[in-house]
Amino acid sequence: MKKQQVVVRRDGSSRRSSSSTSSSVVRTVRYGECQKNHAANIGGYAVDGCREFMASGEEGTAEALTCAACGCHRNFHRREVQTEVVCEYTPPNNSYQQ
Ligand SMILES: [Zn+2]
Repeated sequence: MKKQQVVVRRDGSSRRSSSSTSSSVVRTVRYGECQKNHAANIGGYAVDGCREFMASGEEGTAEALTCAACGCHRNFHRREVQTEVVCEYTPPNNSYQQ
């Protein structure tokens, strides 16, 4: 039986009790190349070569799910999810000068 180890990472900077660090995760979804097989009905395989999804309309409309370059639905494009961790550091003395 193996015990599970919990690793606590510490950064070198000294922390002050009055300061706070908050981090939030930002997820960005983008759509890559089109993978629709245009020759499926004739038993072949051919993609249109579209490299990146470009919405042909505004977000919230049906056009936003259609690629402006190749006219395919967004589902045919390769989905890429990028996760970004954003750390916000609030200094102990908040003095905003305007
Ligand atoms: Zn396409």
